[in-house]
Amino acid sequence: MELTFLGTGVGIPQADRVQSGVLVDTGDSLLLFDCGCGVLGRIYESGYEHKDLNAIIITHLHLDHVGDILALLKANWLIGRTDMQIYGPQGTKDWYAKTMEVYDYLKGRFNVEITELSPEDKFSPEDSDCTIRCAKTAHTDSSLAYRVEQKRKSLVYTGDTEPCEEVMGLSEGADVLIHECSFPLGFPMTNHTTPDMFTLMLEEHPLDVKEIYLTHLYPQMQGHEREAVYHIKKYFEGKVTIAKDLMNLKI
Ligand SMILES: [Zn+2]
Ligand SMILES: [Zn+2]
Repeated sequence: MELTFLGTGVGIPQADRVQSGVLVDTGDSLLLFDCGCGVLGRIYESGYEHKDLNAIIITHLHLDHVGDILALLKANWLIGRTDMQIYGPQGTKDWYAKTMEVYDYLKGRFNVEITELSPEDKFSPEDSDCTIRCAKTAHTDSSLAYRVEQKRKSLVYTGDTEPCEEVMGLSEGADVLIHECSFPLGFPMTNHTTPDMFTLMLEEHPLDVKEIYLTHLYPQMQGHEREAVYHIKKYFEGKVTIAKDLMNLKI
């Protein structure tokens, strides 16, 4: 399994970080987790092609996680591909229907199949050789984290969340945990993660994962990246890395 961070930023523009997106290449299938604004361009820059995606899997429906989906469907349509599988939390069908309402000229052009998921669900995207498990996150009513497993390798992607027991449980034994870390140490925050919120959770639930990648960085994190890694490493023995756009790793 190979993963490429496409977007490691948030709704506020920053140099070198577009909004959320993680590309997972299982060898047999290409899966895109979240598709915020800027991700379509990053797919091109990564050397992959948007027309080769098997599925788009959404953690939640905030704009910085779905903003480029319509642009991606249109890019596919412009070169002759109209079908797409989209997996997402409860509400994804309604979001898609309402979004399409706005763009009259695109109506009926795409053949999109949407599957709505709930915490504890397990699925395999069509034509894919991996299995994906879902868990509830502490962000919106329906937001989900995902665990991808293939050939005894596994990765977890949290999307947006406060540190929570559900995500810790989902991560047990994973090779890679991609956890959001929106704000720096000591920043007062709910619904997102700071390094100290994360380590409070680690004290209660020691994490059995090999590596942690921190993503979804707000501009307030600029200059505080090393401090975040240093703080988390006091509570976690494995490798901790601040993710960057277009960073690529093999699992
Ligand atoms: Zn969000
Ligand atoms: Zn977000």
